[in-house]
Amino acid sequence: MNSINNRSEAGNTFKARTHRNNENIKKIGVFTSGGDAPGMNACVRAVVRTSIYSGIEVVGIRHGYQGMIDKNFIHMDARSVCHIIQQGGTILKTARCVDFKTKEGRAFAFKNIKDAGIDALVAIGGDGTFTGAELLSREFDIPIIGIPGTIDNDLFGTDYTIGYDTATNTVIEAIDKIRDTAASHDRLFFVEVMGRDSGCIALHAGIAGGAEAILLPEKDTAIDELIAKLEEGATSNKTSSIVIIAEGEKNGGAYNIARRVKDKFGFYDIKVTILGHLQRGGSPTSFDRVLASRLGYAAVKALIAGESRKMVGIQANKVCLTDIEEAINNHSIKLEDDLLVMMDVLSI
Ligand code: ADP
Repeated sequence: MNSINNRSEAGNTFKARTHRNNENIKKIGVFTSGGDAPGMNACVRAVVRTSIYSGIEVVGIRHGYQGMIDKNFIHMDARSVCHIIQQGGTILKTARCVDFKTKEGRAFAFKNIKDAGIDALVAIGGDGTFTGAELLSREFDIPIIGIPGTIDNDLFGTDYTIGYDTATNTVIEAIDKIRDTAASHDRLFFVEVMGRDSGCIALHAGIAGGAEAILLPEKDTAIDELIAKLEEGATSNKTSSIVIIAEGEKNGGAYNIARRVKDKFGFYDIKVTILGHLQRGGSPTSFDRVLASRLGYAAVKALIAGESRKMVGIQANKVCLTDIEEAINNHSIKLEDDLLVMMDVLSI
């Protein structure tokens, strides 16, 4: 087992300063899995430091579930998470692991975890990660707490997921820049943003970026409706427009929509921008850093209190626990109808 940072083992010499209810937990394994999200590092830092503060050792599992299968474990001390709170991505790396979807794969992973002396896990990821965590915990009776880390903000049981705020701000920055060029050339831009099943980024970034229309996976928008909206704008002297399209929207993506709209708007130069993976990167916002810190801290506290198979989340600015099964099985619909109504008014 290597140390991420060999500078000092002194990080682990902190005396346990809190009472521990679950004396069985001596070593926690922490990993990031599935899609990466800005703020995952701040969360790892919080898990590591809260554990060490509480007298619990921490092992970082690299590349998510793949790391359990490959025994890709690293010793973490308090200094191994120095200077990562501001970094995007995840120092523990992330991966998608097909083997873990089989019972044999999970059995092998569990054996490796046990051999490494890990007696509880903190899983940072989305609903796929939680599905794997729930199975592992139930099949092998190991305590697990999940932390919602995904830019999509699509998990039930939490108002916000780690990374969503940063991704939304990244999109807004891009929209602002696109608006400069759109206005200069009298262009109509279709900007496609991430969100296969969730329109959260599209809706919020669209409102904050002053978009003329927003197309979402959760809401069917007929192309005729969109054209009517754009025509209204053109007749009231709008010379440029930006339409935000969530990638999971049902009309077939930004290029398709642009093609269908093109005939109607000969006077507009129509352009398409797919923002793509840049939405996953970047330094996390203060909101995501604080959220990640709170949830990482709460996850370790929950394990110490004897909780398992729960997701820590935030609701009405309070940290709360939801059964991980409930978080997976309930589809989260976070789109506020009142925002859609408001959007229509403000974009005239
Ligand atoms: P996310 O956590 O962002 O939703 P994925 O859906 O890719 O990302 O899931 C991450 C990993 O979780 C997968 O690569 C796999 O190893 C594990 N996983 C996902 N679904 C299952 C499942 N049904 N059973 C076991 N493991 C799963």
